[in-house]
Amino acid sequence: MNVIDLRSDTVTQPTPGMLDAMATAATGDDVYGEDPSVNRLEAELARRLGFAAALFVPTGTMSNLLALMAHCERGEEYIVGQQAHTYKYEGGGAAVLGSIQPQPLEAQADGSLDLDRVLEAIKPDDFHFAPTRLLALENTMQGKVLSLEYLARARAFTHEHGLALHLDGARLYNAAVKLGVEAREIARHFDSVSVCLSKGLGAPVGSVLCGSTALIAKARRLRKMVGGGMRQAGSLAAAGLYALDHHVQRLADDHANAQWLGEALREAGYPVEPVQTNMVYVQMGDRHQAFKDFAGERGIKLSTAPRLRMVTHMDVNRAQLEKVVQTFVAFSRN
Ligand SMILES: *Cc1c(COP(=O)(O)O)cnc(C)c1O
Repeated sequence: MNVIDLRSDTVTQPTPGMLDAMATAATGDDVYGEDPSVNRLEAELARRLGFAAALFVPTGTMSNLLALMAHCERGEEYIVGQQAHTYKYEGGGAAVLGSIQPQPLEAQADGSLDLDRVLEAIKPDDFHFAPTRLLALENTMQGKVLSLEYLARARAFTHEHGLALHLDGARLYNAAVKLGVEAREIARHFDSVSVCLSKGLGAPVGSVLCGSTALIAKARRLRKMVGGGMRQAGSLAAAGLYALDHHVQRLADDHANAQWLGEALREAGYPVEPVQTNMVYVQMGDRHQAFKDFAGERGIKLSTAPRLRMVTHMDVNRAQLEKVVQTFVAFSRN
């Protein structure tokens, strides 16, 4: 059975072109700074996003951790969304490994953090409190794109209050493609940006952290400390370079597919949230486990949650999504 996997955009297989690029990549020992492909990926992404430096890391989780630890010292604090990946989905790494205190805030409906609430959460200069150092945003946030106007306000706000500004841009390119702007138009508002190559861009492994020369030097030291110094990583970097050259504009196809899926399910009577990029959220209530099993028997892999998330990506096409819609329809008749 040809499985349709809508759990995440992380599930894609490398394409023949990508595998070829990986197989023929020049490599060297990256801990010595001698891997030409890694160096090229870091330079290329720094250039594209408008930063002085960049660092290739195995995962988005490590990239965010290094950023948080580079911005905040032990006993300091970052402000972050309650549902943000850097707070909720990274095993508490900032607290465990960095001794950094998170100050989570509920996000607004559009995925942004209300800057008035952020202001209230900044700790006064008083020894009772952990010094607030950083605001961490996420874009896209559950498939939603933060507006450029909001990012400009967040930048001005953090400057005014002496905070650094980090972006978990795991899906930065989905946001850029959706807005129809160069990714640097988003990235330029931040002191550091983490980008995943292994989500919609379709690489098997890897994220890149971008920032100033000093910040990336600090992150490079921390990467070694947490065990992320890789050796002949050029084959992996080559997959990332290939993805940046071939898989950015095609994200628009994933967005169109998600849009189509959302429309079709709404027509079928399901409560679907508005779709912006490659994520479709449907309220399944207490039938979510039954539906997951029903779909699973028909070759469709889904997450389980009352608020079901389906993610489109390069390994799922329109014909497969038609089958997904038929499965939803069959389930509601069931
Ligand atoms: C996937 C993801 C990460 C972490 O990436 P991993 O490579 O899975 O560690 C970070 N932030 C967001 C928003 C993500 O979706």
